[in-house]
Amino acid sequence: MSESKPQSALTETAETVLQRRYYLKDENGKVLENWDILCRRVAKAVAAVDAGQPDAEELAGQFYTMMHSLDFLPNSPCLMNAGTDLGQLSACFVLPVEDSMDGIFTSIRNGALVHKTGGGTGYSFSRLRPKNAAVKSTQGVASGPLSFAAVFDAATETIKQGGKRRGANMGVLRVDHPDILAFISAKEDQSRYNNFNFSVAITDAFMQAVKDDASYDLVNPATGAVSDSLPARQVFEEIIDRAWHTGEPGVLFIDAANRDNATPQLGDFEATNPCGEQWLLPYESCNLGSINLGRFVTGGKVDSTRLAATVRLAVRFLDNVIDCNRFPIPEIAAMTQKTRKVGLGIMGLHDMLIQLELPYASQEGRKAAAEVMNFIHAEAEQASIALAKLKGAFPAYDPQYNKYPARRNAALTSIQPTGTVSMIADCASGCEPYFSIVMIKHVMDGDRLPMVNRLFEQVARREGFYSPRLMEKVAASGSVVGQQEIPEKWQEIFRTAQDIAPEDHIRMQGALQKSGVDSSISKTINMPNSATREDVRRGYLLAHELGCKGITVYRDGSREGQVLNAGNRS
Ligand code: ADP
Repeated sequence: MSESKPQSALTETAETVLQRRYYLKDENGKVLENWDILCRRVAKAVAAVDAGQPDAEELAGQFYTMMHSLDFLPNSPCLMNAGTDLGQLSACFVLPVEDSMDGIFTSIRNGALVHKTGGGTGYSFSRLRPKNAAVKSTQGVASGPLSFAAVFDAATETIKQGGKRRGANMGVLRVDHPDILAFISAKEDQSRYNNFNFSVAITDAFMQAVKDDASYDLVNPATGAVSDSLPARQVFEEIIDRAWHTGEPGVLFIDAANRDNATPQLGDFEATNPCGEQWLLPYESCNLGSINLGRFVTGGKVDSTRLAATVRLAVRFLDNVIDCNRFPIPEIAAMTQKTRKVGLGIMGLHDMLIQLELPYASQEGRKAAAEVMNFIHAEAEQASIALAKLKGAFPAYDPQYNKYPARRNAALTSIQPTGTVSMIADCASGCEPYFSIVMIKHVMDGDRLPMVNRLFEQVARREGFYSPRLMEKVAASGSVVGQQEIPEKWQEIFRTAQDIAPEDHIRMQGALQKSGVDSSISKTINMPNSATREDVRRGYLLAHELGCKGITVYRDGSREGQVLNAGNRS
């Protein structure tokens, strides 16, 4: 048996986040929980599904330990809502938008119900007839996907998600939709569509047309008629130009996604959830959870025995969540129960690599990341096959499409941003490198307190290069690179997001995608402010070539009100 790691204490930041948004409160806002009580509530609710199974008794205890120790955390709605009356535990949903007044406003209604419970929604607007197309019943003309997207946006703005989450949407339009150019530039005005991430769904045919410098057809989805054709390179340049300016729109490689659709008999993928990591069919939902990889390195190696046990338990947990979830509408319940998708992901990949002493931006770093992801997928699959024997395969399982033994879940893995859960676990988010190593916190009376990355402090003290002056310097420059006091090896290992070349970011995404990620990956490709449009173009081509299912670039300083700033440049 491998030894389990001692439990980590929660950081002050984690406590603050938990108190503000996760611990249950009474009607006067008095906090009723602490971390121990929260983990017990969630474990009990999720284990209750197995009442009657031989291991039911132990299960709640195992779920509790896995969360309490920060080895694994489920997505925020599960931590917030499990065991409460709301009981909606999933982070992601995709809703169809049919080309009719009824269809559009049904979708807005359904989206509102999802948002109310803390979920994020992806919509494809590709089925809507283009602006100025005929509307038979009124003899008028259609106002097009963008005008309706504004109504979805306004609805989201109005619904504060149970007071806890602001509401997030993904809006997708296919590159061959006649309104594509307007969609690409829609967020030029940065005050509009703020509750949306916009992504263009790019086809392989379009990418081929870009390579061949050919034109491609725009198709009216309502009639199937070709309405026009455009030079592919011109459209590609437009996307690149906007992404270079503002980071939006992102792109989704929709054919790559559909090649991995486990249940094509139920429909095609048209959209992802808001952060892009989970492709879902219309009306599907998915609950997510992430393994905290930094906690699985012992003696310079990944403790595979403990990791395997945690992966298996995490699959049991996420599968149970489907059965104790209160779905916002019956259509979502029905569709989700057919495919039983779960999204097991990772966080703290960078923490793992640091402890293995491998640079994130290196061949060896990518190899180690790919190996661990492959391992997680293989173990998750075994767990899902075992669960199918115990409880039955996912109902849409069909050997004609599914070339694997009957298993419980049509999709198992995706890599989430872990925006908040990684703050609770105090690790690098998802598969991202750390964004900064030392930050200056301004405290009372103008005092400046350096906040030093936990692993960096350990290494710097152990290797004898720690000094308060060095920490100040790292904070001021926002980087460890070029600091002579830091041995070069450690400069490489502690490179942060901005110090890593865009190509290395993309290669890491590609390595993970190929190695055991069923759905997709939420990843930001950081670029320096000096990056050119050519750099963006090369990045997109590389991501497509590597089999990524989407890509989002972000050029430093290109968006107003940038959320994260390295060092004390903020
Ligand atoms: P967390 O760390 O809070 O569990 P993530 O940052 O990993 O969440 O995001 C996972 C998914 O949760 C996103 O892709 C999106 O579908 C959904 N999500 C994230 N933030 C929000 C939000 N503010 N409102 C609605 N859904 C959200």
